[in-house]
Amino acid sequence: MPHAVVSYTVLERNGMPRPPSSYPDIAGPCDGRLPEAAYQFRVQNSLTTPAGLGAVNVTAWLYRDNAGLEGIQVNPNTTIQELIQQFGPADTSDAEVGIHSEGRAGEWFRLRPQFQVLQIFSERIPCWKMCGPMLRAYFPGVPWYYYYDRRSWIGRDGKLIKRAGEVLKSAYGL
Ligand SMILES: [Zn+2]
Repeated sequence: MPHAVVSYTVLERNGMPRPPSSYPDIAGPCDGRLPEAAYQFRVQNSLTTPAGLGAVNVTAWLYRDNAGLEGIQVNPNTTIQELIQQFGPADTSDAEVGIHSEGRAGEWFRLRPQFQVLQIFSERIPCWKMCGPMLRAYFPGVPWYYYYDRRSWIGRDGKLIKRAGEVLKSAYGL
């Protein structure tokens, strides 16, 4: 299997993605290459539209290999083939449905124990039902960085105030 270091070209636009929030709060700053890699993945796969922002969560993990070289692994919550099929018809799908991006990335690293995970960036905070417990069990002590936490946007009436797509749009300066 090829050594999947993601390469990307930085495209011109107004500034860099804004720094994400961290978990835990005391974690050091997020490596700026992670949100940039997620953003470039979106640009390359035409996922900067409102539908793309809503249906897809992109995660980018910083790691070090046993030669000391750093790499970034980027995973969406669906495969590219699925994305192509999905974006044919208009859809109402959401990134919280199906196999989550962190689950895919976790599996990728589980199969490559020679890679040490240093930082985990995910556009949406890893979910508390599945991905959160998985990350804490298999990647203990690795800080998380994110733009959107659904729980921060639930009003007193229990309704969602702001959707992930809107938050990501502003985080990426789209
Ligand atoms: Zn999840």
